[in-house]
Amino acid sequence: MSMKLKGIGASNGIAVAKVYVLDEQPIVIPQENTTDVEKELANVSASIEKAKTDLVNLQKIALEKLGEEKAAIFEAHASILEDPAMSEEFTALIKEQNYNGAKAIDEVATKYIEMFGAMDDDYFRERAADVKDVTERLMRYVLGLPVADLATINEEVIIVAEDLTPSQTAQLNPLFVKGFACNIGGRTSHAAIMARSLEIPAVLGLKTIVHSVKENDILAMDGLTGEVEINPANKDEWTKKAEKFKQEQAELEKFKTLPTVTKDGFDKFILEGNIGSPKDVAAVLENGGEGVGLFRSEFLYMDNDHFPTEDEQFEAYKKVVSDMNGKVTIIRTLDIGGDKKLSYFEFPEEMNPFLGYRAIRFTLDRKDIFRDQIRALLRASAFGPIGIMFPMIATVDEFKAAKQFTLDCKVELEKEGVKVGADLEIGMMVEIPAAAVNAENFAKHADFFSVGTNDLIQYSMAADRMSEHVTYLYQPYNPSILRLLKLTIDGAHKHGKWAGMCGEMAGEPEAVPLLMGLGLDAYSMSATSIPQARSIMSKLTLEETQTLAAKALECETSDEVLALVNDLMKNK
Ligand code: PEP
Ligand code: MG
Repeated sequence: MSMKLKGIGASNGIAVAKVYVLDEQPIVIPQENTTDVEKELANVSASIEKAKTDLVNLQKIALEKLGEEKAAIFEAHASILEDPAMSEEFTALIKEQNYNGAKAIDEVATKYIEMFGAMDDDYFRERAADVKDVTERLMRYVLGLPVADLATINEEVIIVAEDLTPSQTAQLNPLFVKGFACNIGGRTSHAAIMARSLEIPAVLGLKTIVHSVKENDILAMDGLTGEVEINPANKDEWTKKAEKFKQEQAELEKFKTLPTVTKDGFDKFILEGNIGSPKDVAAVLENGGEGVGLFRSEFLYMDNDHFPTEDEQFEAYKKVVSDMNGKVTIIRTLDIGGDKKLSYFEFPEEMNPFLGYRAIRFTLDRKDIFRDQIRALLRASAFGPIGIMFPMIATVDEFKAAKQFTLDCKVELEKEGVKVGADLEIGMMVEIPAAAVNAENFAKHADFFSVGTNDLIQYSMAADRMSEHVTYLYQPYNPSILRLLKLTIDGAHKHGKWAGMCGEMAGEPEAVPLLMGLGLDAYSMSATSIPQARSIMSKLTLEETQTLAAKALECETSDEVLALVNDLMKNK
């Protein structure tokens, strides 16, 4: 019987294969005390040696398959085993309180896991997972339980498990392990990150998958959408989908390193990545991003318990700018309010927070908070080319006020003898229809525009982007949106400025041909969409996209526009 489940797509890819249920015997900690302390200590130290040998082997496998950075995880694991503080604690419990070895390790490990787990910092929370992974391995050896050896799997399977530890994930041989599906975990868990580097599709957070499958069931999974089907009703369809995905990926791989050029040789479009934290820069570079088109700075504020200070922000911006190594970084000033709240600041109650006190409206009102951010950004501009971008601009006066404030801060810093970069650009998001319609006037003052279609569409269609009842109105291809885009792009070009887009639309394959035809200069998207956008551009001439855009602007409906795009792309 076929059955569908939905989890979190954690590593892109399609897989269809036999289920391999990773059913490790649970660790049950015996409660009785030891009667032979010496024997207990000898068992523990022999187990530590076995676990260490495993880690050395795992490190070797990881180094070959995953590279140095991932292999370092196992070095970190070995250092936990070698940590004298921890081993002294459990040795003391055995010697002084006659604890059995497993109970002693469990008690000490739990203390460290709870301590790290409670910390705010992601780094320390990951350390909790590391301690758990290592000490579970150790306890299995102490208790004489089998330790799963996933490295020996030699037929095509999809692994189904409660969870996969980093050490288990590193053992997976992508030749045989076609995917994995777990009850728990999410996009940022260690297993997910490893799955992405191994390029094994993964769906996590499925809650009930382990108990829904039997050995030898067939599983089909989509690591992008999070869809999983047990004993799929139409297996052939899944197999075809998997084949198609594989071919597309192989084809796209080369576009990570190729330059961005249209079929007729136009090479001025640039493809960039959107990021939320300095950690995301790596993916942008890996996928061939030519810059960061949007750094959503609010995450620095949201993952915090206080407004980040000027220095704290400076460090984060400097890191991104330095890591981008000469490629431009566009940083958006605080876009808080609406759906984004801060735990340490109370926003006024409003009937329509999306139409209320948010983004530039808030920062222009709270210059104390704005000042710290602007100064940090200006200081970071000394380390590489940056653009400062203001969100939710509705009027020319707002833009002029924000720009003047920035220039005042620059003068202030220069007086203090602090260096500010020469390549600084000051631009704005176009996400309110009033700004799109009046773009030509804004372009007299702004160095660039970046269209935030997520908001531009919600405000144009009067359809809350958070409401599942009106999602049908999220219509990027509606001719009314295309006309607003045309006004924005033409407005920028009239004054010699550039226009980009950093809303989700920029990375949609159907949007790229239209945006090229409208003359959009910069396309900023999630990093993994970059190769696909570059591939699409390579297949099109400017002229054919311009003809497409002209026709699309004359359409009445979104469907008509999409039909035009599909018609153009079907033979590419
Ligand atoms: C947008 O509105 O399109 C945008 C990029 O900003 P955010 O999604 O952060 O509101
Ligand atoms: Mg927005």
